[in-house]
Amino acid sequence: TISYWNGRYLPLDQVQVSPLDRGFLFADGLYEVTAAYNGRLFEAEAHIARLQRGLAALRIDTGMSAGDWLGILERLTAESGIDGDLTVYLQVTRGAPTTRAHGFPAGVTPTVFGMVSPLKRPAAAWREQGVAALTMPDIRWGRCDLKTIALLGSVLAQQAATDAGVVDAIQIRDGFVTEGAATNVFVVKDGTIATPVADHRILVGITRQVIQRLAATAGVPFVERDVRAIELASADEVWIASTTKEITPVTTIDGRPVGTGTPGPVWGRIAALFAESQGR
Ligand code: PLP
Repeated sequence: TISYWNGRYLPLDQVQVSPLDRGFLFADGLYEVTAAYNGRLFEAEAHIARLQRGLAALRIDTGMSAGDWLGILERLTAESGIDGDLTVYLQVTRGAPTTRAHGFPAGVTPTVFGMVSPLKRPAAAWREQGVAALTMPDIRWGRCDLKTIALLGSVLAQQAATDAGVVDAIQIRDGFVTEGAATNVFVVKDGTIATPVADHRILVGITRQVIQRLAATAGVPFVERDVRAIELASADEVWIASTTKEITPVTTIDGRPVGTGTPGPVWGRIAALFAESQGR
């Protein structure tokens, strides 16, 4: 399939990465995953804005504008050759210098890569019955607000979930919920949606932003606050949300049912509005 590589469009199997690339040696880079439904990009501007914020925070200067990024997303989508829904993956690293040293290299051009993949949407059973999750300690670093390619924490969390036969791992730091392996977490109690505060402990999901907007539209109270791990046990509803998992109800946590053990009414309302915003 088509990919983007440092200013050129070429087949994915023709991309060759230097072993000295800062991404390979240091995980010194960022990524972004944007969905396109039937050829139409979803929330592309928000994904681009997050990427640009992250690059600025890491002092990686690609010289690319929001319009340049959108152009790449649009061309990869248009030339994907994929029928139906897809994701566009973008990755930017600090580039490939001639030697390995921790500090920023001088005079090196960032590496910019993009590729497309078919999007497997959440199974219908996930919406009908909800999914199971486990909880585990959050062992990640102190800047989870940056969407870095250093993903070992998420890799280990997802594998813990997979090994246990559940869909996600809800991570707990100092007694508070942070996020899933690659999802944001929401709890509903007495009709109010709560989600952890957008600080250094979590990645601020684009899906999370959409949920916040839809809740305002629907008149459903939405608060950002610290969420205690013990609240998971007494919540009426728990959801996980991301670009690829969309908004998925969690009906079992650590083997115990959440609320009634079925997808809840608040989820039903927001999920219906979400489907509409996707153009379904
Ligand atoms: N939190 C983490 C750690 C993630 O990796 C992701 C997505 O990959 C999310 C949250 C959800 O973000 P988004 O809704 O932008 O996909």
